[in-house]
Amino acid sequence: MAVTGLRMGVVGGSIAGCAMAIAGSRAGADVTVYERSNGELQDRGLGIVIPPALHQELLAAGYLDTAMETAPVGTRVWITRPPGGRSGREFGRQPSAVVPCNWGMLWRSLRSRTGDVRYHRGLPVTSVERDSAGRALIRTAAGAETYDIVVGADGHQSLTRDLLAPGLRPTPAGYVVWRGTVPLSALNGRHDQLELLRSAWVTVTFPRGHGVFYLIPGAPKAAGAGGVPGDRLLAYAIYGYPPAPAADGQDEPVAGYVRTLAEEHFPAEWADIVARGEHVSLVCHPVTDFQVPRSAHPPFLLAGDAAAITRPHTASGAVKALQDALCLERALRGSASTADALRRYADERTAAGAQLVELGRRLGRAQVERTPEWHTMGPVELDAWSRAVLDGATSYLFGDLR
Ligand SMILES: Cc1cc2nc3c(=O)[nH]c(=O)nc-3n(C[C@H](O)[C@H](O)[C@H](O)COP(=O)(O)OP(=O)(O)OC[C@H]3O[C@@H](n4cnc5c(N)ncnc54)[C@H](O)[C@@H]3O)c2cc1C
Repeated sequence: MAVTGLRMGVVGGSIAGCAMAIAGSRAGADVTVYERSNGELQDRGLGIVIPPALHQELLAAGYLDTAMETAPVGTRVWITRPPGGRSGREFGRQPSAVVPCNWGMLWRSLRSRTGDVRYHRGLPVTSVERDSAGRALIRTAAGAETYDIVVGADGHQSLTRDLLAPGLRPTPAGYVVWRGTVPLSALNGRHDQLELLRSAWVTVTFPRGHGVFYLIPGAPKAAGAGGVPGDRLLAYAIYGYPPAPAADGQDEPVAGYVRTLAEEHFPAEWADIVARGEHVSLVCHPVTDFQVPRSAHPPFLLAGDAAAITRPHTASGAVKALQDALCLERALRGSASTADALRRYADERTAAGAQLVELGRRLGRAQVERTPEWHTMGPVELDAWSRAVLDGATSYLFGDLR
């Protein structure tokens, strides 16, 4: 029992789009991907963390290339700066096995596994519609094509989503995240921090915010290009509230403000690392979330950020996109009709997205909006606080705690 002879169109050729294309192709569909951008995807040097079990599953199933480098670690270390102090104090260590990846390398690995898929880059989709026979129609500057199913993998501003959830827009959390990557030279003279980062990922806490630091594969030039195996970059994400707009309209540049924030709140040794790095990449995102009421209505389905965005504290947006793809492959292989396959997909992935959105809100409240007095905590308080925040849910970032 399997759906056969399908024509599948995919809007967006990033993480979700490539993974869904592989899923469709492995299930026997004839797949075409339309990607608006013409080249910057492979050069994104940002950090992405995924759970080890998912990494293994993707390797075994052939979605990822075994040659893709990762920088796995097994522990999370929590650091605070005591009031009036300059240096950091470690206040807890938790088992937390994660597989940090370089976003550009992850995309390239997925792209290299898309095989026979037709992948059009630099070709924006201008509309997605249902034709009079109930099939899906994709329009681009090159013409119109009909498909049995169309996957909206077109990110947070998805035009495909407007068919399934008209008018749905992300809800702002009110705070932002600065996400950067710096060369390892930023750790010169910081032997202790470098050693720590070789075996752990680090959370540096402060009132109404925190930063996370971890090593990812990659070379200092364009991330991933021209490097040798074993090269590492330092990735970070700092969550907090943006500065008030400047009275003269001349806002401080992003890199300047990140340095100011780190200087104000971080232990000196970590603030210094942020201040020193010539950024390979640095972006500031407003933190938002949303979830579509249902992630498929035949012949359309949504994947990745087009279907749901969870606050990034869960480190699960790309994870969810990859799990969406594994689910689609299973559903297509195990269903007698496209409608059944998409029903199964929607049942499983709508629920998974909703759980992640809820978890992201809880983590955001606890780690940014209403932070505890971090400096009063030790390992016992940290575990108790983590359990209370999870409230029975699980997150691979917290190991076995629930
Ligand atoms: C600070 C931060 C940290 C994060 N950390 C993690 C992490 O550690 N682990 C994790 O799993 N996730 C993480 N995420 C989330 C993760 O980055 C995203 O969920 C993931 O990259 C989304 O992939 P996507 O393919 O769904 O969307 P996107 O990467 O946004 O791709 C959408 C694609 O669609 C294309 N497109 C859009 N419109 C059209 C159109 N009309 N026609 C053709 N193409 C179109 C775009 O060009 C783009 O390439 C993080 C996010 C943030 C902000």
